[in-house]
Amino acid sequence: MKIVHACEQTLRIDAKLRNARVDFSEMTATIVAIATDQFRDGRRVAGYAFNSFGRYACGGPMRERFIPRLLAAPPSDLLDPDSGRLDPPRAVAALLRREKAGAHAERSMAVGTLELALWDAAAKLEGRPLYQTLAERYGVAGAGEPRAIPCYAGGGFYKPADDRALLLREIQGYLDAGYRDVKIKAGGLPLAEDLDRIESALSLLQNGSRLALDASCAFGRDEALAYARAIAPYGLRWLEEPCDPADFETYRAVSQAYPGLVAGGENLYSKEEAENFLRYGPAGARLILQPDPPLAYGVGEFHRIVRIAARHGVPAARIMPHGGNLMSLHVAAGLGLGGAESYPGLFGAFGGFGREVRIQEGRASLPASPGIGFEEQPELYRIFTALPLNA
Ligand code: MG
Repeated sequence: MKIVHACEQTLRIDAKLRNARVDFSEMTATIVAIATDQFRDGRRVAGYAFNSFGRYACGGPMRERFIPRLLAAPPSDLLDPDSGRLDPPRAVAALLRREKAGAHAERSMAVGTLELALWDAAAKLEGRPLYQTLAERYGVAGAGEPRAIPCYAGGGFYKPADDRALLLREIQGYLDAGYRDVKIKAGGLPLAEDLDRIESALSLLQNGSRLALDASCAFGRDEALAYARAIAPYGLRWLEEPCDPADFETYRAVSQAYPGLVAGGENLYSKEEAENFLRYGPAGARLILQPDPPLAYGVGEFHRIVRIAARHGVPAARIMPHGGNLMSLHVAAGLGLGGAESYPGLFGAFGGFGREVRIQEGRASLPASPGIGFEEQPELYRIFTALPLNA
């Protein structure tokens, strides 16, 4: 098996959304396609991925370093020596040769997105959905079984101004679509107005445990503690990213003062960053961990983070990959994690899971298509297949 071609493209994601810190008017994403020399059902096997959502495109390092290294890699850098199967984490090790340690965000997204595209190809070569390939490779008992896994709707952005009627329509839409748990953005308004917004959302949900808040790194220490104190009576599902992801001291203080769960991890880009967060940040017993597979070197690194988290008292059931896309859904299922996020109706072609996945009673069914299954997300698949893969 050989990689015969790989290419990337930057796309604009036109989203008129705002969280507590940023608006998404300039947002971009990188899409990649990797072609193998193998054929299944008369079609060339290719892998596709994109760099999740919320960080800008990462095509520069891909074009200049990582795609040339991937194309130059000998088979021994790509294939498991025992099984002869495509081995994406092995490929990552080859891509990282001649890369200095540290400064992970400079490359983790480029490498992670390529790794996910390689996993898409690897599962297609095996003729099964990616979560089954991952469950077998990582030896997670029962994770390869077809089933439905917990899934919550992430949304509730300030759009760009707070529009309460729109927020309530959005949440009702999620409930009507089969979701039970919802996450909304927080910290983007003065505290009293934000609390009023939270109470509006709660009016549609059965109880506080159905609602999570995402503060998108909005606060310094004093504000974070005041906010946590103010929302404590609601008994919410979790408070996500109350402060900068590297402000371990504030994170820890919030997790000690706030009686509920604190969430974070989408802005950690390596196992080293995750381990420091777990060592010095929020108490493990109070944490929901949410790394993003393509943003942080891919599934191989994600699995290492899962093992590190267990040592720090965070079980797999309290790890929920960030991203709200099919890639994260497969990682959540294949590694036996606590569930997944979804962005139904947001971010255009990049949002949602496509037509194979059913949402019912707060759970998402798993795709049956080989690979990640972007083929069943037609608008996005058209974007992938427009890449000049046979150039
Ligand atoms: Mg978040």
